[in-house]
Amino acid sequence: MSFTTRFAPSPTGHLHIGHAFSAWTAWRAAMEADGRFILRLEDIDTTRCKPEFDQVIFDDLIWLGLDWEEPVRRQSEHFEDYAKVLERLIALGVVYRCFKTRAEILEDIARAPHGMGEVYRGPADPMSADEEAERVARGESYAWRLSLDRCRDVLGARFGTMRFLDEIKGEQAADPDPLGDVILARKDVGTSYHIAVVHDDALQGMTHIIRGEDLFELTPLHVLLQTLLDLPTPIYRHHRLLTDAKGQRFAKRNRAATLKSMREAGMNAEDIRAKWGF
Ligand code: GLU
Repeated sequence: MSFTTRFAPSPTGHLHIGHAFSAWTAWRAAMEADGRFILRLEDIDTTRCKPEFDQVIFDDLIWLGLDWEEPVRRQSEHFEDYAKVLERLIALGVVYRCFKTRAEILEDIARAPHGMGEVYRGPADPMSADEEAERVARGESYAWRLSLDRCRDVLGARFGTMRFLDEIKGEQAADPDPLGDVILARKDVGTSYHIAVVHDDALQGMTHIIRGEDLFELTPLHVLLQTLLDLPTPIYRHHRLLTDAKGQRFAKRNRAATLKSMREAGMNAEDIRAKWGF
């Protein structure tokens, strides 16, 4: 299979210089390997993502000198695919309904035995099947969470193997334990970044995932999902994050760092790359 990688922004605002570095790094790797580069819009959060940002993203990336395969996949057009993934996880018995509010989750975390950390590891007071059925019948909203305990029942101790492009990191057993029982289907959108990203990376034949190191801690979870769903595990590379003069990461709200503003100020892609060293 030829080297295939992607840039997968969420159109919640304008891209900034950090995104440019990420997109460029992935695109360059694909070009150097004579491979494929895919652009995907991760817009499942339809209240935060705005279609008007899509075109700005395309314009920014063209200005940077990138090209990609058409058509661009928009995740908001594929909720049915993600619902099917959730159904499979329900059938495997590795997810559970969570009706709790954020405040109730924090209470559960606080009540958990000492040393359980700051993450949610399931309800302190599991609900009876009758109560669950009643609450569903009443139309109460709930999220679906992944149960790491039930994953252990299904998979045993092995949650899959993470493979890294960086030879020093090599291969490592996926250990999502520090994340606890994460939400896989949000109350509001019915799915999550984790389900959509794992599904689409497999569907689109990604051999390599090149993304920022801010997403490194989520990789064990993504590899666990690939293992549960019998999907191939790509090779991962997490690149450094660019920071501003104060050492702060760029944010979409920082308007001066947006590619659109740089474009409009007459800068070109070479100036940008020379200035930021990529
Ligand atoms: N959509 C994610 C973001 O905007 C990136 C997903 C990924 O690269 O896995 O941060």
